Amino acid sequence: MKKIGIVTSGGDAPGMNAAIRALVRLSAWNNIETIGFLRGWEGIIKNNFINLDARAVSGILHLGGTILKTTRCLEFKTKEGLEKAAENLRSNNLDGLVVIGGDGSIRGAYELSRLTDVKIVALPASIDNDVYPSDETIGFDTAVNSALTEINKIRDTAISHERTFIVEVMGRKRGFLAVEVGLTAGAEVILVPEVEYDEDAVVEAIRKNARKGKNSSIIVIAEGVGKTTSLAEAIEKNVGVEVRVSVLGYVQRGGSPTARSRYLASIFAAKAIELLLDGKGGATIGIQKGQVTSTSLDESCRNEKPLNLELLRLAEKLAV
Ligand code: ADP
Repeated sequence: MKKIGIVTSGGDAPGMNAAIRALVRLSAWNNIETIGFLRGWEGIIKNNFINLDARAVSGILHLGGTILKTTRCLEFKTKEGLEKAAENLRSNNLDGLVVIGGDGSIRGAYELSRLTDVKIVALPASIDNDVYPSDETIGFDTAVNSALTEINKIRDTAISHERTFIVEVMGRKRGFLAVEVGLTAGAEVILVPEVEYDEDAVVEAIRKNARKGKNSSIIVIAEGVGKTTSLAEAIEKNVGVEVRVSVLGYVQRGGSPTARSRYLASIFAAKAIELLLDGKGGATIGIQKGQVTSTSLDESCRNEKPLNLELLRLAEKLAV
């Protein structure tokens, strides 16, 4: 293993820079040269890269986002795009490529791995936490804490004005963020795309709260559920309480990575470099029950990570 490329792809996540730093420094330690492709898969297709050495990654550990920039690249989903990328891995004499990104990027990594001998390893980094089979992705913990900080403030107003707040968090397809944020924020109701939406049940839950003397409630809803406005109207009309909607949006994506996100970035990077030094690739790194794992890219793409619905029931009990 003499030379590797690094690329960040898909939605940015706090801790991507920590992963880049760890990969570059561990490569330097092992006398491996590193280059960083810019703007995700597009950078590999266009052969747009920068040289990275141990000093080039100074001062980035605490920064959110990614110094390599990231995009969603449609061309990479085409045969021509993938072939151009495979050719550029060859023309740069790369022995390995480490992809830092979410489930879409890992699918892209798998498709690319079918066209090249270059060893490809993926580090799951996403605020969605939806990469199989890892218990956690780089950036998830930061996003949970960012959302929680905002909801703590919203709770003050909810209590003072005796209002119900519907707080929309990110998660178009998956509810991992909504569940963890909802549970830790003490939400009365959590709504996720994985569970069929039942407006009447939510209205009933808020009505019950009011009867019990709970004059304020927080409902955490994943954006993918998509019923935020109509739900607010239904609660106001049927329960007669004041409802406000707060869409947290992009504040959940950025910010300095938490210790946990930096820790995962470091241990995932260490595993990636260990695999590459062994001449292995085609793998997604992860963590399961506290142990760092390696799963084939193929298996990682073919399976969907299940949401722990027990946590929804726990949140319900805690809000009694
Ligand atoms: P994330 O990695 O955060 O989940 P996306 O789902 O947008 O973000 O995926 C990032 C990029 O990965 C896409 O823009 C595309 O370039 C690439 N990608 C996703 N799915 C595929 C696929 N089936 N084949 C090739 N490339 C893909």
